[in-house]
Amino acid sequence: MSRYWEEMQYEQPDTAKLKKKAADTAKREKSKGKILEPILIKGRKITQTWWGNAWCENLEKYADYSSRLDRGKRYVRTGTVVDLKIEKGKVTARVQGRRKTPYKVEVRISPMSEIRCQEIIEICGNRIHNLETLVSGNIPEELKNVFTSDDGLFPKPKEIAFNCSCPDWAIMCKHVAAVLYGIGARFDEDPLLFFRLRGIDVERFISVTLESRVEKMLKNVNHKSNRILDDGMVGELFGI
Ligand SMILES: [Zn+2]
Repeated sequence: MSRYWEEMQYEQPDTAKLKKKAADTAKREKSKGKILEPILIKGRKITQTWWGNAWCENLEKYADYSSRLDRGKRYVRTGTVVDLKIEKGKVTARVQGRRKTPYKVEVRISPMSEIRCQEIIEICGNRIHNLETLVSGNIPEELKNVFTSDDGLFPKPKEIAFNCSCPDWAIMCKHVAAVLYGIGARFDEDPLLFFRLRGIDVERFISVTLESRVEKMLKNVNHKSNRILDDGMVGELFGI
């Protein structure tokens, strides 16, 4: 019998049970009026965007995580991450396991230094079309380094701390691994969450950058003899 079939036979009932339990949890929580934000993987791949993919590749680079990541990947695909919320420096999630009540997972990410935050803001705000693209929910690929470089937005293992309420004594249980992949899937939908997670106030950063941009433009206009915004400048200002 091929290894594939052995695995399928071993895992299928388990997966079906987990799915059922996750669905029961969603129903139960809904009836209590709680709003869950589940991770639902639709396609074959966990992430679809270049930045989501880069997040997963980044996780897979860390040797310390490698033994648990595969199980985490299967877990997140099964729909066991029934709730995942991202805020500044912290991800809280609930992951369905064998028990009726889902396990509580918390992933803490160290804040970035003020100086590095400022540098990142400057890099991102440097070009108006980058800002526009960010506001529209995309990340221009030319900003890839901002995420993946050594001091980029993606945290290193030493900047990540996690815990799970399950009885697994491993350094990283499959629930935590599933949440780490779930973060990638959530980032796929809203890339600005990256900035929030690392402590950068995105709305403020965008409005401050736009303001200083407009100020600079107006100064330039005043230097012009006719003091009229020509088409080129309008285009530059609005990225058209
Ligand atoms: Zn666990």
